[in-house]
Amino acid sequence: MAILAGLTGTIGSGKTLAASYFKELGAHIIDADALARELVCPGQPALAEIVEAFGAGVLSPDGSLDREKMAAIVFSDPAQKKTLESILHPRIIAREMEAYQAIRRLDPCAVVIVDAAVLIESGNYRNMDKVIVVAAGEEARAERAARRGGLSREEIEAREATQWCLEEKLKYADFVLDNRGDEAALKKNVGVLHARLRELAVVSPQPGV
Ligand code: ATP
Repeated sequence: MAILAGLTGTIGSGKTLAASYFKELGAHIIDADALARELVCPGQPALAEIVEAFGAGVLSPDGSLDREKMAAIVFSDPAQKKTLESILHPRIIAREMEAYQAIRRLDPCAVVIVDAAVLIESGNYRNMDKVIVVAAGEEARAERAARRGGLSREEIEAREATQWCLEEKLKYADFVLDNRGDEAALKKNVGVLHARLRELAVVSPQPGV
C-alpha cells in the first residue's frame, strides 16, 4: 500500500537534493515546481486565467509566461501572489493526486515523495500521509541558495519573506530530515527515512482502495 510524503523546507534547504537521493533508493518523485511550469505552457487554461488576472504584459513575445516578470509582481505584492496561487495551487494539487494514483496503480507499495516548497502554506500538507521538513543550518542554507545562482540576495530575501520560517514549518513535520551536515550525511539521513517510509508503505491501511 503506497505512501504519499510531502517534502518541504525553507529556500535552499536541500529539498531537491534530498529528493534526488530518495529517487536513487527507488522512491517516486513528484516535483510541484515542474507541474507548475507545465500548467503555464501556452494553450493551458491556467495561462489564460493568469493573463486575464494580470494582463498580457506577463507574457513573453512568444506567448509563454515570462516567469521573471511574474515573479517580480508576486514577490513584491502579497495580494497578487494570492491571486496567482488561487489559479495555480488547486491545479497543482489535482495533478499531484493524479500522478500519485497513476504511480500506485503500477506500484502498490510505492514510496511517493512530493517535492513542494510551499506544501504547508498552501494547505496541501493535508493531502499527504506524512510531512517531511528538511532542516538545514541557517548560514549554510543562505549561502547555498545564493551560490546556486539565478537570484540576487535581495530576491532570495523577498521570496523568503513570503514563505514560512523553519520553526513554523517544523510544527507540521512528521519527520525532520537533518541537512546540517555535508551531502554524504544528508544521503545517509535520507536512507534511514526512506527505510522507515517503506515500512509504513507496506503496513499502512489504505481506506477506499
Ligand atoms: P529551493 O527552495 O530554492 O528550490 P531546495 O530546498 O530545493 O531549494 P537544493 O536545490 O536541493 O535546495 O539545494 C540548494 C543548493 O545547495 C544545491 O546546489 C545543493 O546541491 C546544495 N546542497 C544542499 N544540501 C547540501 C549539503 N548538505 N552539502 C552541500 N551542498 C548542499
